[in-house]
Amino acid sequence: MNIDYKQLANKYQTPYYVYDFDYITSQYNELKTAFKARKSLLAYAVKANSNLSVIKHLADLGAGADCVSIGEVKRALKVGVQPYKIIFSGVGKIDSEIKEALELGILMINVESSAELDRVETIAKELGKVARISIRVNPNIDPQTHPYISTGLHENKFGVDIDTAKRMYIQCKNSENLDPTGIHLHIGSQLTQLEPIKESVKIVADLVRNLEALKIDLSFFDVGGGLGIVYDDEKLIDTNEYAQSILECLFGLDITVVCEPGRFLVGNSGVFVSKVLYEKINGEKRFVIVDGAMNDLIRPSLYNAYHKIEVLNDNKEFSDCNLVGPVCESGDFFAKNIELPKTEHNDLVAIYSAGAYCFTMASNYNTRGKVAEIAIENGQDRLIRKRETFEDIIALEEEYLK
Ligand SMILES: *Cc1c(COP(=O)(O)O)cnc(C)c1O
Repeated sequence: MNIDYKQLANKYQTPYYVYDFDYITSQYNELKTAFKARKSLLAYAVKANSNLSVIKHLADLGAGADCVSIGEVKRALKVGVQPYKIIFSGVGKIDSEIKEALELGILMINVESSAELDRVETIAKELGKVARISIRVNPNIDPQTHPYISTGLHENKFGVDIDTAKRMYIQCKNSENLDPTGIHLHIGSQLTQLEPIKESVKIVADLVRNLEALKIDLSFFDVGGGLGIVYDDEKLIDTNEYAQSILECLFGLDITVVCEPGRFLVGNSGVFVSKVLYEKINGEKRFVIVDGAMNDLIRPSLYNAYHKIEVLNDNKEFSDCNLVGPVCESGDFFAKNIELPKTEHNDLVAIYSAGAYCFTMASNYNTRGKVAEIAIENGQDRLIRKRETFEDIIALEEEYLK
């Protein structure tokens, strides 16, 4: 990635996010190629980065979309993702969302509880529709990742156990308004160990074989997302090994593989750039204060996540500091106890690996407008979301002033 951060700062001001679309293309192609031995669908997990231009870029490459709200489904449809490539997941779908998903005719609704299956059946009946269903199985495997992004243990709220899943598939088979179409698992995010994935896929593949014996034939086997990326010095799962071991578990099954990568496709395409406002010393502690903050990029505050950080100046005088933003919270930091060079007002600071779960988690806390998003493609930059203004932030309140 060869990006002139200074030129972008002059053109678009700071803070901003910049995403390298060519990198997204190469990540997509790498994973798609790894699954080439079978029919496969890569359904991009839209929540990682739901900018319309990002989704469109992936849709143009052939990607589907894994969505966790009807809003995300509508984003995907808006930029041309085919309905038959859209999956709707999530533990708490609202009645109106289920209704709309059925009307839009997406590939399948990924059901996460018995109660939800009943809701979907009732709503499908009211609409006179047949709902294509996939059931999210919780294989109770420890994915060996951060507890906040682990989802495949019974202690997590996601999915249903094997026996419940089986009962739910039988309910689908016996219902006029439910069509058992797929099966789904997703054990966590930022996975760097292949073994838990293999074990989980094996457990769920056995269930698929059991279901076949009951004359329930599924068309899609959705292995979820979760492939990790390098933030620091992580050793990654090799994508070929990943695909290979999944396909091995599915031996003998006539089923299309679905994979739902989010972070893997976009995480390392993005950089968050802010600029230094001040340096200060409180007692012994040095603070570097930048114009970006936790409302723009919350992962360090929320998960204590590590992001590689660089000050873009030539100063060689490094010392320990905390890199913080202007928000009125002690939790507003990007890094603590980090060695950074001495800075001057307006020096740029790059925070890497900021393409996934960064802008999408941004808020207007402290009445700070969401920042600009920029795409780089074939060496050309373009704005893909303009910086929010004060007027944008108050727009939905102003008319109610008494
Ligand atoms: C969040 C999520 C994903 C994507 O996870 P990544 O770690 O970004 O790949 C995939 N599937 C489901 C159901 C999810 O909730």
